[in-house]
Amino acid sequence: MGCDMCNALHQEYRIVAIDDYCFSIVNAFPLKDGHVMILPKRHLIRMSEFSEREAKSMLDMIDGVSLKLRNKYNQGIIKFVNGDEYKTQEHFHIHLLPSKAGLRSLISSYENVPEREKATIERLEATRNYINGL
Ligand SMILES: [Zn+2]
Repeated sequence: MGCDMCNALHQEYRIVAIDDYCFSIVNAFPLKDGHVMILPKRHLIRMSEFSEREAKSMLDMIDGVSLKLRNKYNQGIIKFVNGDEYKTQEHFHIHLLPSKAGLRSLISSYENVPEREKATIERLEATRNYINGL
């Protein structure tokens, strides 16, 4: 019962790093070995709920655990946060995943769009206007 992420704080066998505000755990449903998450100790849902200390702790832990993963798995480390529609846990968390390819390559392959095609000014402006309802 309760939040799986809050409960993970007590699963010592999963903890990769921990400090006063955040902790890092091995993902229970790993995409591959080295798939870990970083999350606040408090049950926070949005980044805007973080205190300054929690935010600093999370950023420092992202850097520290990323470096550790990079050295162990000898691959680049992708960092990502799922959109609300794709979340399986309410408790805010960032995924870290060693990968042979970057996010741009993976997403372009999955979405079948060009990996790196410079947009025209008109397209950029149209996108900006669409986002802002102009
Ligand atoms: Zn929680």
